[in-house]
Amino acid sequence: MSTLATTTPTGPSVIRFERARKEYPDGTVAVNGLDLEVAEHELMALVGPSGCGKSTTLRMANRLVELTSGRVLVEGDDISRTDPVALRRRIGYVIQNVGLFPHRTVGQNIATVPALLGWDRQRIRSRTGELLELVGLEPGVYSGRYPHQLSGGERQRVGVARALAADPPVLLMDEPFGAVDPEGRRRLQQEFWRIQRELGTTVMLVTHDIDEAVRLGDRIAVFSQGGTLEQLTDAVNLLARPATGMVADFVGQGRAVRLLGIGELTLDDLETGRFPTPTGPAPAPLLGPASALRLGSRLDDAFAALAASGGQAVPVAGTAAGGAAIVGVLTPDGLLGALRRITAESAAAEEAEAAEAAEAAEAADDGAAARG
Ligand code: ADP
Repeated sequence: MSTLATTTPTGPSVIRFERARKEYPDGTVAVNGLDLEVAEHELMALVGPSGCGKSTTLRMANRLVELTSGRVLVEGDDISRTDPVALRRRIGYVIQNVGLFPHRTVGQNIATVPALLGWDRQRIRSRTGELLELVGLEPGVYSGRYPHQLSGGERQRVGVARALAADPPVLLMDEPFGAVDPEGRRRLQQEFWRIQRELGTTVMLVTHDIDEAVRLGDRIAVFSQGGTLEQLTDAVNLLARPATGMVADFVGQGRAVRLLGIGELTLDDLETGRFPTPTGPAPAPLLGPASALRLGSRLDDAFAALAASGGQAVPVAGTAAGGAAIVGVLTPDGLLGALRRITAESAAAEEAEAAEAAEAAEAADDGAAARG
């Protein structure tokens, strides 16, 4: 789902950590001098092994954890100077196991922050209905239920709806899909991603699951012990070029497979001059009709279709928008080419950025020399 975001944020920064440090009273240094910026509308995933300071970092942004030194700015305000209660009303927060109020209905749970903000009843009711629909729960069915009358996945959806109720510009999520079974989790991730794009909410999401980070993050921050930022980049770059040994280990053996999961098929990956002329008996399909491929299909679906065809050329239809005509065929070489293409695209973007940064630094030096 991730697009090939560049490694520097494009919008203004909404959350900014400056030399942020947290030392707990027992002497544990959870985060040590973190500099990090989350851009407007960005979904940043914080990922890393257990205990590396991800949750502490997240909780510094809504003052559930107070910094030992450094500062955190939210929409330009130094949050140590803002009222923590007011701050938390403007920042949504979703945690694993959600923490819904057990004796309040789904509707009342979602209405928590709007009620605190003094919205009138009609506005609250219409917002609650709208949000339930957004997260895929029929308001007439779910609004009056209590949390114990919901499945784990449904509770998680209500948790997301509650966090979005007052349309906060910033949403902090700590292992938000952790309590959901793998299949439900994938579906929730997909739906959440759609909602986030639609609302444009700036999100910081903590996960220990590299696949979740790669699927959802515009950029991914990989942490190691002590809240040390090992690498901050987009999904393709992370998978194709882990910056340190720690990142390579964490991203693990399945890197190529994960790359397949985020790339998409383009016309350049196809042979357009010929149509498939399978020789010999047609192989039995393993994974459904190979002809289901179209431009814009994900590369892992393309891989499955090639496997189902016994490694022969697979026809690819129309445009991603829905054209039906066959525009070319995908071969195993074409698929390899596609993998190389997405890796090269991200490398080119990274180089362009490095060049731009060097130019900017040079211009600043020239300016300083001219003044001096
Ligand atoms: P993560 O979210 O990456 O698993 P945390 O931010 O929860 O990591 O924790 C980072 C480190 O800080 C860990 O060593 C953890 O044991 C420690 N820690 C977290 N909360 C506290 C606390 N309240 N008191 C003391 N140490 C803590």
